[in-house]
Amino acid sequence: MKTQPYTLLVVDGSQSLLPKLVRTLGPEDFTLRLARSGPEVLGLIREVDGVLLFAGEADPQQTHALLEALTPPEPAPRAAVVVVTPPEAKALRLTALSRGAESISTPWDEEELQIRVSRSLQIHSRWKSLHSQVEELRRLSVTDGLTQVHNHRYFQERLREEFRRSQRYDESLSLILVDLDHFKNINDAHGHGTGDRVLREVAASLQHSVRETDLVARYGGEEFAVLLPCTHLPGALTVAERVRRGVSELLAGPDANLRVTASLGVSSFPHRAILSPEQLLLTADEALYRAKHEGRDRICLHPPAPLFSTPPSRAG
Ligand code: GH3
Ligand code: MG
Ligand code: MG
Repeated sequence: MKTQPYTLLVVDGSQSLLPKLVRTLGPEDFTLRLARSGPEVLGLIREVDGVLLFAGEADPQQTHALLEALTPPEPAPRAAVVVVTPPEAKALRLTALSRGAESISTPWDEEELQIRVSRSLQIHSRWKSLHSQVEELRRLSVTDGLTQVHNHRYFQERLREEFRRSQRYDESLSLILVDLDHFKNINDAHGHGTGDRVLREVAASLQHSVRETDLVARYGGEEFAVLLPCTHLPGALTVAERVRRGVSELLAGPDANLRVTASLGVSSFPHRAILSPEQLLLTADEALYRAKHEGRDRICLHPPAPLFSTPPSRAG
């Protein structure tokens, strides 16, 4: 629950009600701000907890439009809204109620107004905190806890989605699988904690090497997947080389003195052998397998293209 005073934006063209309002809504619970016009209200909406809209002398159509702008069905309102209307303005009151706002008729009773405003602000503040918790849970459910890139489940979902989309719109889609080389040695020589740290640093490097529209996920232990929508094989190869170089140039670990390399397998849709997301995965995995067998720290493509093998820069 909120402890500091709520900030309430009072929309009252005449401003004649302000002294009474100040008396009703004590300064220990409310900080009142004033606005006269609709655009002014919408400009200030991010800075306040609630809006108290007096419909008295203003043009009813304008009040209606402002009320609708303040209470959109999607996304949910930014602030609690309370409308004070003349008794005959039933349509406005009904609109307010149906859109989740609070309403009260004039002449208003001070205690009733105080309670309705407080309740409305409290509900809205609880709703906002619930909403941000849901957002956080949503983020956690698609994020790998160790590396903070996307998790396996989210990758599988997006792979299927992007594959369908690419098929439907005749777009290309590429997948890079990245497996760290001899990673077991890092754990064995420096401990699991350092291994974890290196994994985090590699994930950050991967994320850094791709565009925002690309998806980086931890596929499993020390394997990552990079999904590149609207990217054909030559484009994916360029990204893969940037990823490979980024990993090999990392100075990782607590003393920034550990080196790691990665092997990469790349496959792209459309290709006659790739008719499903599973086949895109399988062919990228086959390419990765070849990269391991051809000496690691390199990129192999599906279909095999020896031209693109990258000789390790530090090969002795
Ligand atoms: P290769 O070049 O053939 O891929 O060799 P590798 O050692 O990387 O492959 P292997 O599959 O033999 O071993 C994978 C290693 O990755 C062993 C495992 O302990 C380590 N690993 C997997 N997940 C984690 C993790 O979450 N944290 C740490 N620290 N290590 C992990
Ligand atoms: Mg592996
Ligand atoms: Mg490995």
